[in-house]
Amino acid sequence: MTERPSDHPQPMTEDQLIELALRQPLATDMFRPVDLHLDRREGLHISWADGHASNFPLAYLRKRCPCATCRTERESRTHSPGSAGLSLTILPSNIDRATEFVDARLVGNYAIQITWADGHSTGIYDFRYLRVICPANRGGTGLNPDR
Ligand SMILES: [Zn+2]
Repeated sequence: MTERPSDHPQPMTEDQLIELALRQPLATDMFRPVDLHLDRREGLHISWADGHASNFPLAYLRKRCPCATCRTERESRTHSPGSAGLSLTILPSNIDRATEFVDARLVGNYAIQITWADGHSTGIYDFRYLRVICPANRGGTGLNPDR
C-alpha cells in the first residue's frame, strides 16, 4: 500500500467542485450574496455576507457551466492519461457568442441562471458553486479560510 490516490492530490475538476459545493449548507454567510452585479465587459461581481468579494470573467463562468450537457462534455475530455493535472478546456467554436450573455435571472434565492448569446441557457449557477470556484481562491475551494 504505497500508492494511494490521496498521495497525489490533484486539483479538483469542475464536477468534483460542483458536488462539493452542493453538499455545503446553503444558509451560511459564506454562500449568501449581499450584492450581485453582472456586466457585459466586467463579468459577474458578487459581494458575500461574510465580507468576501468575487469577480468572475464571463468566459470563466461559461467554461465552468454546471449544466448536465457541459459536465458530460468536460467529463469526456478529462480522461486522457498523462495529462498530469493539466486540463484543456475547449469552448464552443463561436467563442464570442458563447461568452456573451443576453439575459440573466435569479433562481429562487440560491442561484443565477445565465442565457448566453449562443442560446445556451441551461446552466444554473448555484451560489455555493460560485463561491467554491471563486478565482480569488487560487486553486483552493475557499472552504477553509486561513484567517
Ligand atoms: Zn452548459
